[in-house]
Amino acid sequence: MKGFTPLYQYKFFNEPDIKDSYDVVIIGGGVHGLSLAHYLAKSGITDVLVLDQGYIGGGGSARTTAILRSNYYTAEAIPFFRESLKLYENLSSDLDLNLLFDQIGRLDIGHSESAIYGLQTRADFNRLLNVESYMVGPKEISDLVPSMDLRANKLYPVMAALYHPPAGVIRHDAVVWGYARSAKNMGVHVVPFTKVMDLIINQNSIKGVKTTDKKVAAKLVVNATAGWASTIAEMARIRLPISTHPLQVAVTEPLKPFLDTTVSSANLHVYAYQTDRGEVVIGGGVDAYPSYNVSSGLDSIHHLVSNTLKMFPALRDVRLLRQWSGLCDMTPDYAPIIGHVNGIDGFILTCGWGSWGFKAAPMAGKCVAELILTGKTPELIKPFKLSRFNNGEMLNERASAPAAAVH
Ligand SMILES: Cc1cc2nc3c(=O)[nH]c(=O)nc-3n(C[C@H](O)[C@H](O)[C@H](O)COP(=O)(O)OP(=O)(O)OC[C@H]3O[C@@H](n4cnc5c(N)ncnc54)[C@H](O)[C@@H]3O)c2cc1C
Repeated sequence: MKGFTPLYQYKFFNEPDIKDSYDVVIIGGGVHGLSLAHYLAKSGITDVLVLDQGYIGGGGSARTTAILRSNYYTAEAIPFFRESLKLYENLSSDLDLNLLFDQIGRLDIGHSESAIYGLQTRADFNRLLNVESYMVGPKEISDLVPSMDLRANKLYPVMAALYHPPAGVIRHDAVVWGYARSAKNMGVHVVPFTKVMDLIINQNSIKGVKTTDKKVAAKLVVNATAGWASTIAEMARIRLPISTHPLQVAVTEPLKPFLDTTVSSANLHVYAYQTDRGEVVIGGGVDAYPSYNVSSGLDSIHHLVSNTLKMFPALRDVRLLRQWSGLCDMTPDYAPIIGHVNGIDGFILTCGWGSWGFKAAPMAGKCVAELILTGKTPELIKPFKLSRFNNGEMLNERASAPAAAVH
């Protein structure tokens, strides 16, 4: 008897035949590649091909916990993420799809005097750059999260928190498919299950890509492959300052609503929120060692669970439903790499999105589209150039993720 076709064998709706040449080929059909395709098409550049080796949105974008916020630390990152969050606020209308963006806020917990000093500094920087973000004490924390253990005499007492009301959570698959559908409707070719095996290079100029089946010429090739960004860059003989690390996360069985905001602790390396279905999503920092392995391990789950219980001991008898892992393209300064590569024509990077890149996709896509359209680098992405690693302009964006904040 013939069974159902496994989901992973389905082809993207109305999949087009790949032409011999395009103005732009985007490698990577995750949220960044598709956002770029959408904004390119909106600005009139529709001769675009998006290629993915797997199914659309099946990389880091499928594994994300999709927390969106803009309470970053540096003068370079705060405005960028502030503008990206604003785009997210209108994205459902833009894509004509309900993305279920739920702005439930964010609490970054301080367990020590030094952590509180860091959070206070962040609050000040945020407010100077028009991001709503302020410190709250135990009383306000208790009002926002009655289930949090606020006892003072314990190893990691909850002393204060940075509160960022506009933060929230979005449906990651809706974002990815919304961008894909929009780009496709404007004429972009989006083709899954087609791996780029090599770049076509002529005298330091990228002329196209070689897939498993054919050569495709392009005026511009964009590397939007996140965890695989180094492998594509190597095809252009470039060594990126990126190492790929898995990030493991988990989700509990559904519970009655008890947590109405997102909570993060840099000291404990964990963050948590409750989904509309009642499950508690628990995430943390990336694995310590670089790897392309996306299997999950007991060590990680032990860390995530034991440290979440330090804030929410009432969860001790709750069962875990699933655990999963995705690849993160980590840079040494916890900031992305966007723009042209000096000395190589026709090659654009939008990578180094690490464990914080989902929230960045609208603004990154819009800025890279503007770069391609005008040839000029938009102000918001100028600090994220690759050459900063050569000329001492690294950013140290310590608020990128729970793990980053303590280094
Ligand atoms: C577990 C986890 C939790 C996270 N939580 C958050 C969060 O809460 N908030 C947040 O903002 N960010 C979060 N992130 C980070 C965020 O999800 C990523 O930064 C973002 O999804 C990256 O999107 P992308 O489009 O750049 O890459 P991806 O979605 O990984 O897409 C890259 C694509 O490139 C394709 N590809 C690779 N090589 C080739 C090739 N040779 N040919 C063709 N295609 C290729 C891959 O198949 C893949 O689909 C998290 C990440 C993980 C793993």
